[in-house]
Amino acid sequence: MSLQIRSLSVTYGNHAALADVDLDVAQGERFAVMGPSGAGKSTLLRVLAGLEAPSTGAVVVNGEDVTSMPAHERPVGLMFQDNALFPHMSVLDNVAYGLRMQGMSKELRAERAEALLDLVSLAGFEDRNPTSLSGGEQQRVALARTLAPGPSLVLFDEPLGAIDQTLKDDLLAELMSIVREVGTTSVYVTHDRIEAETFADHMAILRAGRVVAEGTPMSIWQHPHTAFVASFIGHRNVVNGMPLGLHDGPVAIPPTAVVEDPAGMPARVVARTFRDGTYELTMEVEGQKIVMAESNEAAEGSLIGIAIDTSKVLRLLADEV
Ligand code: ADP
Repeated sequence: MSLQIRSLSVTYGNHAALADVDLDVAQGERFAVMGPSGAGKSTLLRVLAGLEAPSTGAVVVNGEDVTSMPAHERPVGLMFQDNALFPHMSVLDNVAYGLRMQGMSKELRAERAEALLDLVSLAGFEDRNPTSLSGGEQQRVALARTLAPGPSLVLFDEPLGAIDQTLKDDLLAELMSIVREVGTTSVYVTHDRIEAETFADHMAILRAGRVVAEGTPMSIWQHPHTAFVASFIGHRNVVNGMPLGLHDGPVAIPPTAVVEDPAGMPARVVARTFRDGTYELTMEVEGQKIVMAESNEAAEGSLIGIAIDTSKVLRLLADEV
């Protein structure tokens, strides 16, 4: 199902948690909403789920305006970071919970819940107590529970937030393949850039309640437009271009565009750090910190000369916020 968000605003007192948000999510699309803490991500999900009414604007699902539709009538599943399985219910009853609320018979509920447990590779776990499961297993039960009622739209609110990094990569890959298999449209909210980029066909970046970038992860990377978006999508060396003679405004200088050049700009080595199989040099140049990818043996505190390959430099706009 498709989702349109039209001129959506949510105001608390005189504070706009969301301001004039417009987004389009196509049928079957995996859409990520990314932004720093306080950007309005959870507020957006609550409005989509029907847990909160917007101050102005509309939520349109498959062409139908659902802005005033109560949460329990919306074909929407929500999976939180703190997935809070019911500790006194078996895994099967946890997964079947939403189906019971729908009034499905006991036999059909069990059948459907078993199919879902199979989907998340937890067949045989039906009678287990959630407290006896690992974090990753609990997460998969929570996913099965969210998907059991067959929602047309699944909302993920930092679903992997509490999981440790190595497990996170595996779970994210699993979650994506399950979402793909089910074919449901999904909106995934996170402050984690890598998670968002991995998950998303399309994504939006929120800042202070506003959409400041939208597109595929690649298109945002290639055209971040502003310094905030460039930093947030993972560009490094986002600095003021003027003192370096590059641009009257911010720039993003790829660390690989910085080379040593004894006749170039003087740079003071601040740190030499190991990253992804190589040593990088962090230098102070014209009062700004700049990282160079390929480092020589220059010691911390020493003075070297550098040049910047201007053809690789991204010119950016200053942020208004
Ligand atoms: P995020 O999920 O991106 O961290 P939130 O949607 O939780 O951001 O919050 C957006 C902004 O709205 C924040 O400034 C937050 O303090 C504020 N906010 C959220 N919920 C409420 C509320 N119920 N009452 C007042 N302010 C709120």
